[in-house]
Amino acid sequence: MASTPAPLLHEQAYIDGQWTSAASGRTFPVKDPANDALIGRVPDMDAADVTRAIEAAHAAFPAWSTALAADRAAILKRWHAAVTAHGRELAEIMTRECGKPLAESIGEVRYGASFIDWSAEQARRVNGEIIPTDQRSRRLLVLRQPVGVVAAITPWNFPLSMITRKVSPALAAGCTVVLKPAELTPFTALALAQLAEEAGLPAGVLNLVTTTDAKRVGGVMSTHPLVRKVTFTGSTAVGKLLMAQAAGTVKKISLELGGNAPFLVFDDADIDAAVEGAIASKFRNSGQTCVCANRVLVQEGIAEAFIPRFTAAVERLKVAPGLEEGAQVGPMIDDKGVAKVMRLLQDAIAHGAQVATGGKAHALGGRFIEPTVLTGVTQAMACTREEIFGPVAPVQTFRTEAEGIALANDTVFGLAAYFYARDSARIWRVGEALEYGMVGINTGLISTAVAPFGGVKESGIGREGSTHALEEFTEMKYLSLAGLG
Ligand code: NAP
Repeated sequence: MASTPAPLLHEQAYIDGQWTSAASGRTFPVKDPANDALIGRVPDMDAADVTRAIEAAHAAFPAWSTALAADRAAILKRWHAAVTAHGRELAEIMTRECGKPLAESIGEVRYGASFIDWSAEQARRVNGEIIPTDQRSRRLLVLRQPVGVVAAITPWNFPLSMITRKVSPALAAGCTVVLKPAELTPFTALALAQLAEEAGLPAGVLNLVTTTDAKRVGGVMSTHPLVRKVTFTGSTAVGKLLMAQAAGTVKKISLELGGNAPFLVFDDADIDAAVEGAIASKFRNSGQTCVCANRVLVQEGIAEAFIPRFTAAVERLKVAPGLEEGAQVGPMIDDKGVAKVMRLLQDAIAHGAQVATGGKAHALGGRFIEPTVLTGVTQAMACTREEIFGPVAPVQTFRTEAEGIALANDTVFGLAAYFYARDSARIWRVGEALEYGMVGINTGLISTAVAPFGGVKESGIGREGSTHALEEFTEMKYLSLAGLG
């Protein structure tokens, strides 16, 4: 069993460079989803606390935004080194509060840290433009300036990387930040803040508010006039609400929202590679990622060969608490998540789906669900329209390439899609026809700091990662310099 990750476990929030309690003195418990063991308590902050955090971020903005890019980059580099050095402790905290297998948490630390490193490098490349003038006496220039105070709200399913993916480019661009992590996973966020402080981040540049009242605190973050940008990762429903609230003061906004990823297997696919990709994409974090395959769409000519191999691979997955050696599928995050998966399972079965494997609560009890494959799935079933967010793979078949593409696009979401095929003309046709922000071709894993992550349709606005990442945290300013002769 892993050691207790006590040194980085903070039970206070972080505002203006101070570790602090809620003004009200209230706290709330954080529990391990695998066994409900208490991990610790953190401040239950409210509107007054988050307002103080916003004011601190506003006060820190002039110095941070005008610091040399190289100096900001150096602090981020030190933060990256500290996160990497404390990778194991961070991973253990993460597994304890969100339940994901330790191997996945270790992978997430690496992935999350890579955004800090990338942002540090990009800090020095926020270049402006000089535009060929339209009048001899003028020069036309464009500056890129940090947008101001950024309000960041993040989910529990990637407690570390969803923070670094937005906070590090914001800091690199010269913005100051108020972060509200998920109620279920504040300890990873607080550990990150401690490491940022140790790396030399000045007081007020990053502020962290923990709360059970997301509605009220998020309400302040998305309406306060001193906040100039809202960046959110989470459900589409909350994203829409924040977008509406932010409209009142016309804030810049980035939204990384829910998905309904299709995973298409065409007749010409490499079956073994497709099975491996489907397992990686569907069952990571027990199916609780925004880019998890939500629907497996298999062309009729290959279905008989693919489905039994896929089912056998699902049966081999080890279900266990995340800290147990070899765990591949951990518990669901909470009872609400379990209830949703069970509802979608029952709905599918009631509409005629067959259970190829799994289909019920796991013998371990609690929040563990058997990795499941459903066959005979149709569009009448809710699991083809809603984000399942659990270890259930519904398999649908289709006849033609056009039918497969139409099925894949038949959703309000547009985050990630995957397909397996070998014909190069088909690869181009399908890649271009899928209405998604990201498409994995012959792979089930697509995330990297160097590529733009984000969705279209109701999956969001804006991109994280890539050379475009810092643009989301800057505004263009046009200077027209007249009287030059
Ligand atoms: P969620 O319920 O939308 O919560 C996300 C964050 O928003 C949490 O910090 C939550 O706080 C906060 N929140 C909840 N209600 C709010 C409100 N009224 N105002 C302001 N903030 C509010 O989503 P989740 O269940 O944690 O995460 C799963 C969802 O995130 C899925 O839909 C998944 O697809 C999506 N996701 C998307 C991406 C992406 O990159 N596109 C990545 C990861 C996850 P509390 O924790 O206190 O409720």
